[in-house]
Amino acid sequence: MAAPRRVLIVGNWKMNGSRQSKQELEAMVKGLNPAFSSVADIMVCPPAILLAELAGGAVSPIRFGGQDCHHNASGAHTGDISAEMLKESGADSVILGHSERRADHGEGDAIVHAKVKAAWRAGLLPIVCVGETLEQRDADEAAAVVARQVRQSIPEGATGENLVVAYEPIWAIGTGRTPTPEDVAQVHASIRHVLNERFGEEGEKIRILYGGSVKPENAKTLLAVANVDGALVGGASLKAEDFLGIAHAAL
Ligand code: PEP
Repeated sequence: MAAPRRVLIVGNWKMNGSRQSKQELEAMVKGLNPAFSSVADIMVCPPAILLAELAGGAVSPIRFGGQDCHHNASGAHTGDISAEMLKESGADSVILGHSERRADHGEGDAIVHAKVKAAWRAGLLPIVCVGETLEQRDADEAAAVVARQVRQSIPEGATGENLVVAYEPIWAIGTGRTPTPEDVAQVHASIRHVLNERFGEEGEKIRILYGGSVKPENAKTLLAVANVDGALVGGASLKAEDFLGIAHAAL
């Protein structure tokens, strides 16, 4: 039997936080159950400008990630940040293809695909986001849309060690609405099917996170769904108490 997938809880701070956020981070470190690290991983993805300061402290059980990267290592790309720069600032991972990047910056699967390769080039773990709109869900297209995004955004060579997928229904992000556990199970099963089909045994090892209005109150239910190997958390990752409430649901 394959080894169980290690749970991963990721906080996406989006465009929130300041240098004072160090105190919130310290509260997270202090409040984290000492047993947590033996069973699961916890990660914070702050704005890139805060990475070096937040990740540069004492050894911490919290891992760090970026929220996006350019696909090139360097060059004339004003305002962009490369995977190598994130790595140098203390990140070991990067969120890619978040629906807010797809919507605000017109990022499609082809560019996400290139960014995953950039993350690998720099030694970062890419967390690739996929998810359907409300219209697509209402048209019963959720599983098919997500399967297509997984096929097109992820390059050959993905393994359980070098890739994480996050299913984030767009209509659930920041809205307080979540799909039913049955709906989550259906989409995660379809993602698993594509991963297994493409990557064989490695597909079975790739973690699939659920994201979209995860809160301390619903985390246990969502984490118990088949093929849900962790959570990608937006709003509720900004406060230590809420983020720890979600993380501790994994114990
Ligand atoms: C997100 O943006 O990745 C997210 C899941 O946000 P929220 O938890 O606030 O819905």
